[in-house]
Amino acid sequence: MESVCLYEGKAKRIFKTGDPDVLRIAYKDDATAFNGEKMEVLEGKGRLNNEISSLIFERLQEAGLDSHFIERISETEQLVRPVEIVPLEVVVRNIAAGSLVKRLGVKRGYAFETPIVEFYYKDDELGDPLLNEAHIAALKLAEPEELKQMQEMALRVNEKLLHLFSESGVDLVDFKIEFGRREGKILLADEISPDTCRLWDQKTGDSFDKDLFRFSQGNLQDGYKMILQRLGGRKS
Ligand code: UDP
Repeated sequence: MESVCLYEGKAKRIFKTGDPDVLRIAYKDDATAFNGEKMEVLEGKGRLNNEISSLIFERLQEAGLDSHFIERISETEQLVRPVEIVPLEVVVRNIAAGSLVKRLGVKRGYAFETPIVEFYYKDDELGDPLLNEAHIAALKLAEPEELKQMQEMALRVNEKLLHLFSESGVDLVDFKIEFGRREGKILLADEISPDTCRLWDQKTGDSFDKDLFRFSQGNLQDGYKMILQRLGGRKS
């Protein structure tokens, strides 16, 4: 399909369509970690993430969460509404892992009594630094009301995903989401996939997420296939 690419990121390309109210996202097979230091092409990753993220956004929409998602149109593509991305990465943590373990010295695997919501500045050159509300206000990254909305929506997403994954025998350790502005509203945007979540097998503790690639722990596609299968998606 001939069309204008508006943006190319590490894992996706975004294209215009004939309708100004609709964009097309194409998921790539490229895997990157550590701010682009580690890079590989992993065949099938784009399809798996597109299928998993579409399935999750469909479930979230059924639960009344407003998002940019319209529909999945092919193995690697989906249609979304255009939004102005808020330059924040919103992370929700249920279990200690990753950067939090290093920063706070909490033991990996420690289950928090209540989820933790964190905001990071989406800026590769700065290495996505952690922000508090005062930083967000000072840098005018979001209005206080928007911040409150994003925090509430992040916790609602967490509730829904905790339920969805625990039904499949998977612990939702943490995840990253992004939001966009459209017609005065805050919408959930970007993707939710094993690239952006930590997902551990409840029985064995094995990772089914990007840590497989980050730390060369095993075959990434096998982990992602397992997630799709457990969520009720197709098995091949
Ligand atoms: N994450 C992400 N994109 C980023 C940074 C983090 O999707 O640029 C996800 C990551 O996969 C994990 C969660 O956010 O599920 C928390 O990541 P953390 O802060 O522990 O950083 P990491 O250990 O990934 O550097």
